[in-house]
Amino acid sequence: MINVSRFESPFRQVHLDFHTSPNIKNIAQDFDPEEFATILEKAHVNSVTCFARCHHGMIYYDSKLFPERIHPHLKNKDLLKEQIEACHRHNIRVPIYITVQWDQFTAEEHPEWLAVDGDGKPFGNTIFEPGFYRILCVNSPYRDFLKKITKEVLETFPVDGLFFDIVKPTPCACKHCRKEMEKLNMDPSSFQERMRYGFMMVNEFKEDMTNFVRQFNKECSIFYNKGHVGPAERPVKHSYSHFELESLPSGGWGYLHFPVTMRYVRTLGLDCVGMTGRFHTFWGDFHSFKNKAALEFECFQMLALNAKCSIGDQLDPKGKLSEPVYDLIGSVYSQVEEKEPWCREAKPVTEIGVLTPEEFEKEKDMYIAPSLMGITRMLQESAHQFDIIDSQSEFSKYKVIVLPDFIPVSDELSDKLGNYLDNGGALIASFQSGLNESKEYFNLKQLGIELVGEAPYSPDFIIPRDKIGKGMPKTEHVMYMKGLEVRPLDKTEILGDTAIPYFNRTWKHFCSHKHTPSSGVLAYPSILKNDKVIYFIHPIFAQYEKNAPRWCKQLFLNALDMLLPEPLIRHNGPSTLLVTLNEQVKENRMILHLLHYIPERRSQDIDIIEDVIPLYNLKVSLRLPQSVKSISCVPQNENLKFEVVNNRIEFTVPSVNGHQMVELQLK
Ligand SMILES: [Zn+2]
Repeated sequence: MINVSRFESPFRQVHLDFHTSPNIKNIAQDFDPEEFATILEKAHVNSVTCFARCHHGMIYYDSKLFPERIHPHLKNKDLLKEQIEACHRHNIRVPIYITVQWDQFTAEEHPEWLAVDGDGKPFGNTIFEPGFYRILCVNSPYRDFLKKITKEVLETFPVDGLFFDIVKPTPCACKHCRKEMEKLNMDPSSFQERMRYGFMMVNEFKEDMTNFVRQFNKECSIFYNKGHVGPAERPVKHSYSHFELESLPSGGWGYLHFPVTMRYVRTLGLDCVGMTGRFHTFWGDFHSFKNKAALEFECFQMLALNAKCSIGDQLDPKGKLSEPVYDLIGSVYSQVEEKEPWCREAKPVTEIGVLTPEEFEKEKDMYIAPSLMGITRMLQESAHQFDIIDSQSEFSKYKVIVLPDFIPVSDELSDKLGNYLDNGGALIASFQSGLNESKEYFNLKQLGIELVGEAPYSPDFIIPRDKIGKGMPKTEHVMYMKGLEVRPLDKTEILGDTAIPYFNRTWKHFCSHKHTPSSGVLAYPSILKNDKVIYFIHPIFAQYEKNAPRWCKQLFLNALDMLLPEPLIRHNGPSTLLVTLNEQVKENRMILHLLHYIPERRSQDIDIIEDVIPLYNLKVSLRLPQSVKSISCVPQNENLKFEVVNNRIEFTVPSVNGHQMVELQLK
């Protein structure tokens, strides 16, 4: 059921940074409101986030409460006001940016509001390093200041939305946090406890701030940014109107962060916006340009994964937007606009759920496990349709659930998984997944195995038997990472064996440059199957993320094929093709997204996309529960012939030039 009251973000947004040093003069002297809005409109932008207060702590409007914080060289004190008025005349939305935990002015004027570590030192950069990264504690009286300025903004402007930046859990040991922790019987001297409290406190802050904002404005969008959204945000999602996923692939996040995060966040029920940048690298990379093909991929991937688009830019101190930058943005956003009708309220069609390890890594903020990245790669490279989920998610909508490498199973999760399996579900687990929280025994009887201990040899070698070894030689395949040794229970079938080396490599005995070869002795099982549950003893997903052995992927895909013999999608294209399937219920149609852009590690620091490599005559086969009336490439409206073979719909897409959507109109 579609929740009609859900906040829907615009599709084509710009996040317009304006962290501007107080040492620069003539701020906004060339700002022309009409020109500003016209450049945005010409670039097909329909929402621009503008600045009330930046990380330098400078204010860009005529604040009556805090005149000392207005940028000392701001030529036009109505900068924000005129940005909003001009954009509204052009039907462009203007959410307002307010910095939270990074504020250089406040850090200097109110050092007593800074978060401190166990040694009493502030977090972030030192006094003599350039940067505004000292973290303020929102448990201090700073919170009252934040409310005052937020209230002033809400009472001064027509506020479409508020973007609160840098709101993250901090293991703070300031006197305010210590006092509150003691009230909760928590030990402030323990780092782990401070981190745990940090998560609780930052969520309490968000609830408090949202309630405060709602006293003045019931409608505006509200988002709290920390550069990542994950399971930590689930308990406090009611404080958000939507999620924005800051993820600049060349700015430290990499190309996997967005799909991994988005596939989880879209299951939480709020509207989502993906946020990349027009910069070559990171925020504040002035006078740089992203390659157009890269910007296309990043935006079109957002559409394919059910997000709206936001591109980060920074306004020049003099207040003029760069026309070449907006030519670039416009060249992509004009295409996004044409694609929008097939993306509006589109919901993902998925059949595999992957449990995220992030939920169980409570002390690590912004941590994405290599195992999660590895399985995301494997599933994307094979066109499988999947979500990333947590233990609170609804399991019954998935045909297969995967527990990659490190998913501890509590009694509660064991019951939930057991119930899912009893009702026809299937499961794949690897390595430590399925062990109880203290890793002493397997806490899911459906695995059909018993823990013996750590594998005695590493590296050791998988020899796949017939079923699991489809398309593979029946010989040793090295597994670089150490696995577990397990014993099969009664009915459990062995799908693969483990050959052990002559000896482990130590100073006493070693062979050649790398690991010792196989002795040919089969010592313990490597892959086991009990009814509809398959278990791998090795961390195959973390291994794939580490150095991508093709055989790790092949073994996993073969296991998946045994449990899901008729997947939603098959195609004859390369593994670099990204395929997603969405449904638009109102329009009674499915939308297939085909994306072919290849990020290449072309520099020491970052992956680069420069070219579009077209694909021709791509054969696609879909298994849909519904019958199809017509199929066409959109938005160009090119009709495609199709046939139904063995309950699968088969058709050929003549060409994929970067991104192609295919509409399947249902009967
Ligand atoms: Zn504190």
